[in-house]
Amino acid sequence: MSAGTREDELRGNLAALADRVAAACAAAGREPADLTTVVVTKTYPASDVALLAGLGVTDVGENRHPEAGDKCEALPDLLAPGVALPRMHFVGGLQTNKAGAVARYADVVQSVDRAKLARSLSRGAEAAGRELEVLLQVDFDRTNPGRAGVAPDDLAELAEVVAGLPGLVLRGVMTVAPLDEPPRPVFDRLRELSSSLVADHPGADVVSAGMSGDVEEAVAAGATHLRVGRAVLGERPPLR
Ligand SMILES: *Cc1c(COP(=O)(O)O)cnc(C)c1O
Repeated sequence: MSAGTREDELRGNLAALADRVAAACAAAGREPADLTTVVVTKTYPASDVALLAGLGVTDVGENRHPEAGDKCEALPDLLAPGVALPRMHFVGGLQTNKAGAVARYADVVQSVDRAKLARSLSRGAEAAGRELEVLLQVDFDRTNPGRAGVAPDDLAELAEVVAGLPGLVLRGVMTVAPLDEPPRPVFDRLRELSSSLVADHPGADVVSAGMSGDVEEAVAAGATHLRVGRAVLGERPPLR
């Protein structure tokens, strides 16, 4: 393999991330094997997703439809022989009217924050003959009405709704740390909420927290899933 290819760059970034995760695990008395890294590939091409899969990445994340669906469609033809399709996690805000389409290609939707969206995903999954894993996105910053996520106090009720819907499997919780605050207290609260959720729904033990900037805090707080974009793929151009 010649030096300087995109594949080399991704391989190096994945190795650096694995080192960070290993160090954070050592500090927290945890095992790296207990963590799943979802590599968030938004804005980057399907060819990068294919390279990542070839480098052993099993889970990728996308935050927009139809970009996510387009990449899922392109991917099978781009994968090297023998490389397994990665699982697709939809991690972004989702309009109810796009839920049916996302339910056809996503394996996990991490951003379910309201019953109406859950019902649409359920209908979509049923229509596609698929089973969709669902995380409930929690928002701890109730001062900003623009943020996605269910209020902590409403989590149990939403969990009941999702658990009762056909085609959906309740798998746990997710949060995005506020930009302007230290992330650790928020991740600790997510972990606490997760414990009470698991008491009622034993299979819902996923805790998705931590992005490129706060991997260490998420590992320390007990996250099971990290969602890392920039640290692997590089800085993104501004989105909007
Ligand atoms: C983009 C994104 C990430 C990854 O963020 P980075 O800072 O690139 O690591 C994680 N979670 C969600 C919901 C995202 O939209």
